[in-house]
Amino acid sequence: YKNAPGTLRDAIDAGRAHGDKTFVTYQDERYSFDDFFAAADRLAHHLAQGLGIHKGDRVAIAMRNYPEWMMSFVAIASIGAVVVPLNSWGRAEELAYGIQDAGARLVICDSERLAYLADQLPALNCRAIQVRGDERRDDWVEPWSRSQEAAAELPEVDIGPGDLAIIMYTSGTTGKPKGAASTHFAIAQALYNFEYHAALSAMANMPTVEKMLGSGFDPATLLAVPLFHVSGCYAVFLGNLRGGRKLSIMYKWNPEQALDIIARERITVFTGVPAMTLALLESPRFADSDTSSLFALGAGGAACPPHLKDLIYDKLPDAYPGTGYGMTETNATGSSCTGAAFRLRPNAAGTLSPIVEVKTVGENGNALPRGETGEIYIKSPTNVQQYWNLPEASANTFVDGWVATGDVGYVDDLDFLYIVDRIKDMVIRGGENIYPVEVEGVLLGHPAVLEATVFGVPHEQWGEELIASVHLGDDSATEEELRAHVAGHLAGFKVPARILISGDELPKNATGKVLKKAVKEQYLAAG
Ligand code: ATP
Ligand code: MG
Repeated sequence: YKNAPGTLRDAIDAGRAHGDKTFVTYQDERYSFDDFFAAADRLAHHLAQGLGIHKGDRVAIAMRNYPEWMMSFVAIASIGAVVVPLNSWGRAEELAYGIQDAGARLVICDSERLAYLADQLPALNCRAIQVRGDERRDDWVEPWSRSQEAAAELPEVDIGPGDLAIIMYTSGTTGKPKGAASTHFAIAQALYNFEYHAALSAMANMPTVEKMLGSGFDPATLLAVPLFHVSGCYAVFLGNLRGGRKLSIMYKWNPEQALDIIARERITVFTGVPAMTLALLESPRFADSDTSSLFALGAGGAACPPHLKDLIYDKLPDAYPGTGYGMTETNATGSSCTGAAFRLRPNAAGTLSPIVEVKTVGENGNALPRGETGEIYIKSPTNVQQYWNLPEASANTFVDGWVATGDVGYVDDLDFLYIVDRIKDMVIRGGENIYPVEVEGVLLGHPAVLEATVFGVPHEQWGEELIASVHLGDDSATEEELRAHVAGHLAGFKVPARILISGDELPKNATGKVLKKAVKEQYLAAG
């Protein structure tokens, strides 16, 4: 994009124009854009002047979704240091791993994360400041307070498009999270792409246009996903910062709390992984909640069960559904789709972004003709350049300017992209390929099923056998009923040999994706 900002810092600075409009709400706290930038600039000044952080130094953030998370991000990026968002669902070990891996000189924390890290910082050769929470550890933490003297001018730092801006960790769905190292240019392109598509899709939906033209229209997004992965950080936080839209953040996902915030803050846009959108719509409190402000409901980042779009139309006829496909390695860019286009191609993950080149590759490594299913490769100006400190994984994933996504899919004649499943999750049973996502979608379509995961386990006769684990809502169902339900929709070899009914929710990572690997290991361990 020729008109995109050149750097992440330029993209952030665009938010300064929004003045005293409300930017962030968290519980009963409210910050205007001016309040937000005043705090971020004070922190930036303190990092540069007080703590001697320079351009290129890695600075980690270990915090849950708090306004200070975003202020820290802006402060770090503004002085040309490299932002390292850590998975704050993690405890001491995981946090320490991120700090060590990125070689962070400083970590900005809330009190809880600081307590986890307390004893490890000297060995990690990393200092800390605490910007949120009550129990201050002034013994070894660098002093910092919000009411600190307002900064004069920020220090002059020359930041170019090719400089390293951020090390963002992948969600860790298939293994250990990998640090994706992105330049300022790639992330700026990605942010511009989000804005462009958000505007296009709003305009393509007539009821939305009518609402936007009406008096008192005030866009507001609910952030239900963590800030430390691409969807929350780029599409929501930085998108709203640039675009001047209000953002209401949640410490932790909870559908009933989300309904309260939607009513109180008049939320217009909700996005989450499909399981969240589903839980919101199926909440027993949904019918009694005021959701009249909602006009867009997104579900992306994982396979969307086929009935979800109909459920959105059904429960919120004036809102339009949206989905998107992307990954940390492409700075969340890939395809997206809303409204009528979604209805036209309900199984697609959207149309390709115009700056993205996609090919599918067969088992022999050759590019396949359009329409044929293979591994998806993406070439885009938004691609990150490499994994931090992982030369072998980098060589496998970043090939001649392309990202080998590890996802299986195809592109149709209208440039719609379809994601079939992850290569690693494919099951081969008696010579037949099974993509668990398809079976999961059918299980999720059963009214009793809230969560489902399907995986293969070794089997003497078939090579692999298919197993499912489901979590039910208030309604009950037996294993036999569920097997019959699958058999009513899919070929016999796709019906799981066992469907385990779990009393607990399935284990999920911070992004909200089910940890299939953990469920499978648990199953195998139980014999
Ligand atoms: P890790 O790489 O650490 O195993 P992860 O791949 O889940 O974790 P992310 O980069 O957050 O980490 O997620 C990107 C992946 O999510 C994609 O490669 C794809 O497998 C999946 N995904 C994203 N959007 C969609 C979608 N619309 N439909 C299906 N799958 C999707
Ligand atoms: Mg991945």
